[in-house]
Amino acid sequence: MLEDKNQQRTSLASLGEFGLIDHLTQGIELKQPGTLTGIGDDAAVLDFKDKKTVVSTDMLVEGVHFDLAYMPLKHLGYKAVVVNISDICAMNATPTQITVSVAVSNRFPLEALEELYGGIKLAAKTYGVDIVGGDTTSSQKGMILSITALGEAQAEEITYRNGAGDSDLLIVTGDIGAAYMGLQVLEREKEVFKVNPNNQPDLDAYTYLIERQLKPEARKDIKALLKSLEIQPTAMIDVSDGLSSEIIHICKQSGVGCNLYEEKIPADPQLISACEEFNIDITTVAINGGEDYELLFTIKMEDYDKLKGNPNFTVIGHMAKESEGVHLITRANTKIPLKSRGWNALQEE
Ligand SMILES: [Mg+2]
Repeated sequence: MLEDKNQQRTSLASLGEFGLIDHLTQGIELKQPGTLTGIGDDAAVLDFKDKKTVVSTDMLVEGVHFDLAYMPLKHLGYKAVVVNISDICAMNATPTQITVSVAVSNRFPLEALEELYGGIKLAAKTYGVDIVGGDTTSSQKGMILSITALGEAQAEEITYRNGAGDSDLLIVTGDIGAAYMGLQVLEREKEVFKVNPNNQPDLDAYTYLIERQLKPEARKDIKALLKSLEIQPTAMIDVSDGLSSEIIHICKQSGVGCNLYEEKIPADPQLISACEEFNIDITTVAINGGEDYELLFTIKMEDYDKLKGNPNFTVIGHMAKESEGVHLITRANTKIPLKSRGWNALQEE
């Protein structure tokens, strides 16, 4: 849990709630012009002038969404911010502020919260967002982390899930599937460690996969990139639950169908070799894996030339009439209906 197991352990009770908040929020600077006041009053005051505000919130529960056996607290803090920022980016908006709420049991010393906040502050700095509020409280068991992200955009820039046309192209940024395989590698190492705690894992072949799982990044760059190419996406979503599930969200909300081409799905070489080693089908990983935090979006056919050849983007399919359904076209040219098998927070085990 703590990176240095021998470090000092200061009990949270010794600081009291206000002392703890003061301690954790030390050194927070406000950089966004839209932040009028941040932490320190009953509420933060923001001003987005003529722009629209987008808001997204997400809760992470220990044992459900993360396992501190292989997720260092600093990484957890970083990732919790990134996943919220990714949702702002998925609206084609610019992330601007976050609030951070944490509940912890008394098993966590102050030093653990310092590491968690270290990751949160690093992500805020990396993405240029202000930390403007939050709450710290105690829990009976484990840790609960809730982050709310705010962002801004011009009304006409905001991209919803329901704008895809039935002849639009489907595009994904970066590569997908790596975060899921990173988790498989970490889970395997955890089992090995249980049997032999002296075993030092050799993870060189999986560095990219593990980084995608433990330290994902949000595609804050894509809004500006699309703007510079003079492309306004018609629908957009981030790949948090898996490509298949995100495609179905866009199709349902836009009232269109889709053909996704297996051979087009972008995969990193490390993912290809890890799937061979684990004997897992790479397409299954890519379409059902999730947690890649890449952006999935649609564009009008006539915009294709503007992004053709750009290494950030891969055209992976095209939309269709709703009556045609949502399908994966395999390498063997068979048509398989796409199912939403992405991760579902409420599904029974
Ligand atoms: Mg999302």
